Amino acid sequence: MNNNRMTSWHSENAGPRNNRQYAKPQQDNRRGNYRNDYRRDRNQNGSSNFAAQAQSSIKPGLTTKNILPVRDKLRVIPLGGLGEIGKNMTAFEYNDSIVVVDSGTMFPDSYMFGIDYLIPNILYLEERKEKIKAIICTHGHEDHIGALPFIIKKLEAPIFATPFAKGLIELKFEEYGIKDAKLNSIKDGDVLKFGDIRVEPFATTHSIPDSVGLSIRTPKNHLIWTSDFKIDETPVAGKPIDFEKIARWSKEGVDILFSDSTNTERPGHTISEKEIGVSFKEIFGKAPGRVIIATFASQIHRVHQVIRAAVETNRKIAFSGRSMVRNAELAIKMGYIDVPKDNIITLDKARSVPPEKLLIVSTGSQGEEMSSLFRMAQGSHRQFKIKSGDTVVISASPIPGNEAAVGDVINNLFRLGAKVVYGKEVDVHVSGHAYRDELAQFINAVKPKCFIPVHGEYRHLAIHAELAQGEGVPRTMILENGNILEVDGSYIEKSRWKVPSESVLVDGLGIGDVGNIVLRDRQAMATDGIFVCIVTIDRQTHEIVTSPDIISRGFVYMRAAEELIREARSEVRRIFLTENSRTRGDWASIKAVMRERMSRFLADKTQRNPMVIPVIIEA
Ligand SMILES: [Zn+2]
Ligand SMILES: [Zn+2]
Repeated sequence: MNNNRMTSWHSENAGPRNNRQYAKPQQDNRRGNYRNDYRRDRNQNGSSNFAAQAQSSIKPGLTTKNILPVRDKLRVIPLGGLGEIGKNMTAFEYNDSIVVVDSGTMFPDSYMFGIDYLIPNILYLEERKEKIKAIICTHGHEDHIGALPFIIKKLEAPIFATPFAKGLIELKFEEYGIKDAKLNSIKDGDVLKFGDIRVEPFATTHSIPDSVGLSIRTPKNHLIWTSDFKIDETPVAGKPIDFEKIARWSKEGVDILFSDSTNTERPGHTISEKEIGVSFKEIFGKAPGRVIIATFASQIHRVHQVIRAAVETNRKIAFSGRSMVRNAELAIKMGYIDVPKDNIITLDKARSVPPEKLLIVSTGSQGEEMSSLFRMAQGSHRQFKIKSGDTVVISASPIPGNEAAVGDVINNLFRLGAKVVYGKEVDVHVSGHAYRDELAQFINAVKPKCFIPVHGEYRHLAIHAELAQGEGVPRTMILENGNILEVDGSYIEKSRWKVPSESVLVDGLGIGDVGNIVLRDRQAMATDGIFVCIVTIDRQTHEIVTSPDIISRGFVYMRAAEELIREARSEVRRIFLTENSRTRGDWASIKAVMRERMSRFLADKTQRNPMVIPVIIEA
């Protein structure tokens, strides 16, 4: 994951510390101010540029109320999932109704220390929550349902999800202690009316059961929203996409097609999920001992294939890793995976099964620290030790940024004597997102008047738009998070307004309370350490009583830097004396000057920028 992705376009939004009305049309002078502000942040923290999007929806003073409603016109407002892969959320607003499609999380970049998730900014929705008729979830992946626990109390809207997604949301709400959410089940072919917005889900093929796209109609327009999809003629479960229905819609006329851009860079056609079942059967059949297979807990179709192949090669199946156990159990309970009951055993029981009759399905395909496979590779898994004769299959390709972590896990598994299969020689992974030929096929089936790519980083969107132009779509548009698209018959235009769309950071139970300042501190501490200078003074006379104390962590090894520390002490002393006589004991301003000058002093001497904390103690 690269940093630019998240900030390249945020520079057009409000500055991080400009406490002003948010949604004014952009003006050049504001933008100019902001740019300067932004550059300053960048210089201060050296490398990163997160400050622009570290925002909270609860920041006081921000409002979108100055964006006035329009009559009989559809507004489409992407709040997440454009210019990024993850945290999908889009609002459809028509007169007195808002329908929200998806509510996902995204993983933070590695420089966002301590942040668990990024979620969409919902200020625009919060300020119109009485209009929200539905939050529709198109399937159960985290980038479509993950943010629900964090936003549902604020929006209080009923949730509509396909059955498997609903099951996953219920487990999630249980975990977060959310009891009063209104959850409804939807399926292919349902017609849902939310005021003047009419939504009809249609079955798609993807890597999880019950994924749907949406046909969305207003009195004047018809839009199609694919959500995540691939075109799989032989799906593991469920039915293939109904292209006859889509042809009918196409004939009636579709104004806008919004389509999944994740794999626009990949030529050709994805292979069917079913085909890797064949690879699995071959690998499991040949493996002399135990088989451990790692994949995403959310790839239910993959888990299904693994289980089928395991049953066919006479292996008992145990699940390892919390999310894997949870998702697989739910899928079996709901009947999405059919497996004879006694083929599933607990990990504790696995020890008593002969090695050639055992298969473990595990989390950790991305080398995630603390995941089940990671601990096995470290030799620190409580119930399970890898040994020679074991075969480990990694059935997922590393998400960009995870390659090194996955590589480490593979090295360690080899070191422990296991044979590792990770997709170099056998197909053990297929994507759940359409490749170029499938994307073109879908565009041709719909033949929209206007095409708008969604779900992708900016380059994916641009390439997808180009693809649609090549297929003869008369008009393409690229939107960004926070844009407002206005649709009124044949009028389809971006409004001059923007709504706040900077990611909201979730750190443990805190939502949006970690802003750019806390993040910058965490980053400074992690990269250059921390430097505390303590000046102890006499309460009455305000004179320094001892030589200033210096404490540092992660900055320099103090004993090897005696000279520097000595100089730093006399610098601290000098600053205190001058500032104390100048300000007559204004501790706050003395500390501010000390922080500033000591930072510069240390940067000059060491080329490092530790976080400087001045402390004045009255004794
Ligand atoms: Zn998905
Ligand atoms: Zn997705």
